[in-house]
Amino acid sequence: MDRILNYIDGSFVAPASGQFLDNYRPRDGAVYGQLPDSTAADVDRAVAAAKAAFPAWHKLKRQERAQYLYKIADAIEQKLDIFAAAESRDQGKPIHLARSMDIPRAVENFRFFAGAILHQQERAFQTSPEVLNYTRREPVGVAGLISPWNLPLYLLTWKIAPALAAGNTAVAKPSELTPATAFLLAQVMDEVGLPKGVCNLVFGLGEKAGDALVAHPYVPLISFTGGTDTAAIIGRRAAPLYKKISFELGGKNPGLIFADCDLEAALTTTVRSSFLNQGEICLCTSRLFVQESLLPKFTELFVERIRQLKVGDPESAESFMGPLVSAEHLEKVDGFVQRAKAQGHTILCGGERVAPSAALQKGFYFAPTVISTQDASSEIMQQEVFGPVVTITPFTDYADAVEKANSTRYGLAATIWTQNLDTAHHAAADIKAGQIWVNTWMLRDLRVPFGGMKDSGIGREGGDYSLEFYTEEKNVCLQIGRNRL
Ligand code: NDP
Repeated sequence: MDRILNYIDGSFVAPASGQFLDNYRPRDGAVYGQLPDSTAADVDRAVAAAKAAFPAWHKLKRQERAQYLYKIADAIEQKLDIFAAAESRDQGKPIHLARSMDIPRAVENFRFFAGAILHQQERAFQTSPEVLNYTRREPVGVAGLISPWNLPLYLLTWKIAPALAAGNTAVAKPSELTPATAFLLAQVMDEVGLPKGVCNLVFGLGEKAGDALVAHPYVPLISFTGGTDTAAIIGRRAAPLYKKISFELGGKNPGLIFADCDLEAALTTTVRSSFLNQGEICLCTSRLFVQESLLPKFTELFVERIRQLKVGDPESAESFMGPLVSAEHLEKVDGFVQRAKAQGHTILCGGERVAPSAALQKGFYFAPTVISTQDASSEIMQQEVFGPVVTITPFTDYADAVEKANSTRYGLAATIWTQNLDTAHHAAADIKAGQIWVNTWMLRDLRVPFGGMKDSGIGREGGDYSLEFYTEEKNVCLQIGRNRL
């Protein structure tokens, strides 16, 4: 059985309490490993190591820090198959998706921020011939990084890479449901000789290890990706300590399908945007709004394609969807769907648990589900399900579409399908979401601002935005010459 250890001060260590948690395999529900049930004592050790490593790491030249990040990227890439297999086993996503999306994007995160730090600019202001103001960007210190289970390595490295590039040291707490790729990353960092204590990984439960990190007095910055309700708890803990915060949170992302869209493109991409990774991507479309005149045709073709999606063994190249991440999450998703059914919304396809084979009967599989509904205030249209469930609702005109799209507490992402530039341009402005895609989905440029509006987050990460978040800018005012003020 695989046993994961904490990575603290360059050593792989058991938690101080000696307690471990079971790690379940979504594919068949079996326990296949264990991970540390870390407590405040482990977080204390990790923070002390990161604090001790900070001065030397911060003083390295940018090029030197960048070289470490490039080496980490190369090492992950060389072990791509090992990482992909671990991520698929741990999280449930089809192995081909881990291989083509999650792991390459983690490699890209390290390469991108290794390059970005070399191009970060400070500013200078010539106030008068004898007065010069210039800015310095200083790393914040020990960065506390908390990540979720859906894209475990991708989202963890989205934090670690810019934090280290900018000169911080880090203590990261990955989701307890998906520790495997984070553990492999620790091994890679060890192999490439990253200095001790620069990046520490503490595994365990959010309310124990995560909370200790959030409340730690020597951790001045928290970058958190996860649920909106968890963020409220973290915010309450961090605010009295005046921590720098970034929250990347939940979504209930609308997809607007206008009658003048390229129907084939809209269908093909909306199938992926709704069900890729079992719908367990914060950016997945979960509410579809289709213009009335197109609704019957779109619904018929969409449901026909969804029925053909293969839910199966994540190890099989044939599977489009694997199991959900955990028994608890399966219960939650099923609960939403059964309540929607009981409330009179129409299940057009799916709506039930499935078992791809007798051997996988105890796995956490759920059929891709489409629910027809008109009630924008219903639970299924308001709450984040974070699974393979999408609602489909008609709209009459532009104003109706925008009003419906904006009718939740969330504002993470939206997709707009139209061939009319005017409609696209106005909808992009009128929809309150941090990321708008027009006639596409999930295309990312790592330089652009990423983050949510409304209850979907605070702050922006990506490119310069991340480097800004992981540093503090100070101003130096310099009097030059003899005519002193
Ligand atoms: P959670 O909020 O449950 O957990 C996220 C992380 O926080 C986990 O590591 C968790 O540990 C930890 N945690 C939980 N409670 C606390 C606490 N009190 N103090 C400190 N840390 C804590 O989210 P999920 O893991 O369930 O992830 C799904 C959510 O993440 C969805 O809402 C999704 O939309 C959102 N998400 C947002 C993204 C974005 O970029 N906006 C991207 C991806 C996901 P543990 O696992 O032990 O509970």
